Amino acid sequence: CSSTQPFKLQGAFAEHQSRLQNLHLKRKIATVLVKTTDDLERCDGLIIPGGESTTIALLARLSGLTDALKQFIQSKPVWGTCAGAILLSRSVTSAKKDGQELFGGVSVDIARNGWGSQVESFEAALDVNGLSDSAVPYTGIFIRAPVVIGLDSNAGIQVIARLPPNLLPEPVDDEIDPRTIVALREGQHLLTTFHPELTKDNRFHDYFARQLLVALLGAPTAYAVFKII
Ligand code: GLN
Repeated sequence: CSSTQPFKLQGAFAEHQSRLQNLHLKRKIATVLVKTTDDLERCDGLIIPGGESTTIALLARLSGLTDALKQFIQSKPVWGTCAGAILLSRSVTSAKKDGQELFGGVSVDIARNGWGSQVESFEAALDVNGLSDSAVPYTGIFIRAPVVIGLDSNAGIQVIARLPPNLLPEPVDDEIDPRTIVALREGQHLLTTFHPELTKDNRFHDYFARQLLVALLGAPTAYAVFKII
């Protein structure tokens, strides 16, 4: 372990924690706020929350967590929401001159703040594949959200939600244009460009818990999940 200096947490972690704790599962999910590599070692899965991706990356670097996170992502279920989705991507278009550090793990290219200034924040009723009560739309809350601008079509990415085309700034072919993708899964990684922790609807957290943690990690044990920096 590197010498880890706990830093202030950044991002919408308390909301994720409360959503996970309210799930109706056989065993409650224990949540851990990850500030050090020792914290991370206790976790079976991780949520990288929204916030500011450059700040989260910087705090991870200053806390000596970056390499441990990259390793964790290679072997365990990880869900990135908004800024967290940026950090899991393989490339980002960023205003920063020297680019931006990413953790990687998901084969998508993403644009920060990609919806532009007029639509910096908005809500959208989403049809999501695989959620319980799938006939009931899920309210996606997008706050200076990133936009998926490309993906590796050989990576086995499963698109699980797209934005309704009427909300896009210009007409696109919503079946193939990556910019409509707002939730996707690649293996044991989940990526949402919006903030499921900011609604009282637990279905995305239930999906993460059941489809990624329980289904991939095995029988119900206590899953210390999460959360970052
Ligand atoms: N725009 C932020 C970023 O670039 C993400 C915003 C969010 O997480 N709500 O990191």
